[in-house]
Amino acid sequence: MQYVSTRGALEPCGFVDAFLMGLADDGGLLVPETIPYVEKSTLEKWRTLSYQDLAFEILSLYTNNEVADEDLKKLIQESYATFRHEHITPIKKINDTLYILELFHGPTFAFKDIALQLIGNLYRHVSKDHEHIIHIIGATSGDTGAAAIEGVRGKEGIKICILHPHEKVSKVQELQMTTTADENVLNLSVRGNFDDCQRMVKQILSNPDWKEQYHLRAVNSINIVRILAQMIYYFYAYFRVCEQNKDAELQFHVPSGNFGDIFAGYLAKKMGLPVGPMLLATNENDILHRFVQTGLYEPTTFKQTYSPAMDIQIASNFERYLYYLCEENGQTVADYMQHFQQHGNIKIEEHKLNIVQKDFLSASIHKNPCMDTIKHYYREYDYLLDPHTACGVAAIEDDTKDKTIVSLATAHPAKFDDVIARCDIEQSFPQEIAQLEHKAQQMDIIDNDLEQVITKITQFFA
Ligand SMILES: *Cc1c(COP(=O)(O)O)cnc(C)c1O
Repeated sequence: MQYVSTRGALEPCGFVDAFLMGLADDGGLLVPETIPYVEKSTLEKWRTLSYQDLAFEILSLYTNNEVADEDLKKLIQESYATFRHEHITPIKKINDTLYILELFHGPTFAFKDIALQLIGNLYRHVSKDHEHIIHIIGATSGDTGAAAIEGVRGKEGIKICILHPHEKVSKVQELQMTTTADENVLNLSVRGNFDDCQRMVKQILSNPDWKEQYHLRAVNSINIVRILAQMIYYFYAYFRVCEQNKDAELQFHVPSGNFGDIFAGYLAKKMGLPVGPMLLATNENDILHRFVQTGLYEPTTFKQTYSPAMDIQIASNFERYLYYLCEENGQTVADYMQHFQQHGNIKIEEHKLNIVQKDFLSASIHKNPCMDTIKHYYREYDYLLDPHTACGVAAIEDDTKDKTIVSLATAHPAKFDDVIARCDIEQSFPQEIAQLEHKAQQMDIIDNDLEQVITKITQFFA
């Protein structure tokens, strides 16, 4: 199994190189050269596997034999030993139509843990082989930073520095990032916004001397391993629902921002997972919804919403889908991306739009329907949805009665208590979150200034 770039101008590379490269050197994103097809008989064999064993079967199709079976098994065991639920990603039946796939049982209570726990261990594994320290830097609006830190804290051979916008992440998110007390973690709280943090990280990463000297690595959702790790729970959820409802025709509802999670579902389907079209749910930042409806991909003005992890204008993983839409022709993708750079939009042809609309349904859920949905499910079913999850659930329409919907719960409601409180709901916090308040915080508050960031990072990496 080799990896190629969506823009077609990269020599195929192996799994570890693809993992370490992050963004492809030609500016594109890495994708598997071929997608392995899983026969019905294999699906039958997978049906009864534990989450970890299923993860091994799926991931080993993609690792190009570069991670020995025994090592991969161990990495998977370690990565999911930190989860609080034996099923890792359990499903909850809400009513005859709806199951919730709970993806928030990892250490930071959001679905990012599922990939970043594995990625943390994989970095450690790779740094052992390469005998040098890996330095990770990243910017976060909240969930990714917490999950990335949790994935590598205390691990040998790795140092991580995360920039977050000062006082612009939720209190729980800030505490999760800053209370770890491990020496290989540096939190920079920047007096600026998320875009400032992201811009400075990009400037540092694009300096070739730095990249070379410090073996710099990025954490963001463009890493192909994040996608691979997120395919597993689509299979796992399918098997669990079928145990209860053998002939169910499943439709996944996915709260979307960077298109990473739903793209993993799309790949799972391409591998042969027998499910219907996926529903992509956005908030008011609806570029992906508009694309599915009209074939025009074009950012508009940024809106602040109740589901901040989905407040995204340009969905970085969209290019991966475009690649398959262009029948894996890298040159066509490169042309589209160049057009996007110059004109700020991409318009696909009618016949491609037909394919998009076979692959995806979509909805854009605004503040009031989001809150109404949280209140309704709490009252009616005693189930508390977080505001991201609520977007996927709110997209269920009345005429879906004979379908079976699996809606992804991407975060625990305790992470976004301000919205829950607005719904006049008082929730009790899980103990792990409640006790964060009593821990000492460690972060450096700095100005929105690249020089200051560089000074801090150089001291830390030294
Ligand atoms: C990151 C995130 C999302 C969006 O996932 P994408 O892969 O970017 O589409 C949705 N909900 C929560 C809680 C998240 O942290």
